[in-house]
Amino acid sequence: MSIHHLTLAACLAATLSNCAPSITRDPRNLSELKVEVKAYVDSGDYARDLAAVAAPAKSWIDRRARSHGGKTAVVFDIDETTLSNFEHMVEADWGYQPVAWDAWMATSRAPAIEPMREVYQTARANNVAVFFITGRTEKDRSATERNLRAQGMGDFVELILRPNGNKSPAALYKTAERKRITGLGYTIIGNFGDQQTDLDGGYAERAFKLPNPFYLIP
Ligand SMILES: [Mg+2]
Repeated sequence: MSIHHLTLAACLAATLSNCAPSITRDPRNLSELKVEVKAYVDSGDYARDLAAVAAPAKSWIDRRARSHGGKTAVVFDIDETTLSNFEHMVEADWGYQPVAWDAWMATSRAPAIEPMREVYQTARANNVAVFFITGRTEKDRSATERNLRAQGMGDFVELILRPNGNKSPAALYKTAERKRITGLGYTIIGNFGDQQTDLDGGYAERAFKLPNPFYLIP
């Protein structure tokens, strides 16, 4: 039964009463939300919000690397943390289509999220080791590495990707990797992600959450 049939059935059931009682319970309209999200980026608000997270992160890394004096590290997520897929998301009308997404990743031309590239540079300038932990899988390793290098973020200790076919929840996979990095003798002084699942689970002195109104990784 189509949505129109259901609406018609509801109207007939309502007979003489008002035929649109459910309007107030409608969720937000998807087309309007798409416009709103795009305007968040186009207006410069997104860039401002990213910069507002990056600024205190840079001074924290500067300060903490100096006071620690030992083996320090930062952990970065990739998508919507260090690389932006905005161009692809607009092109795909905000839908996730695995084939189109894989093709986009393979181009290796996602631009850096500029305020986060500055955070990366601050880390390297202070001799803080960089680890990337991403939900991208091993099959995407070479394209991802090429993309990071092209965007000036190729000086890292490890690029950690999910094993092909690994379905463990993001927070568990990422926490286990931070635990492993800690086991190598590093203090993770900052962990950066656009999803709460990038940050939950500990093994970092500070967690920095970037905005992402585009999608949710549970
Ligand atoms: Mg991400």
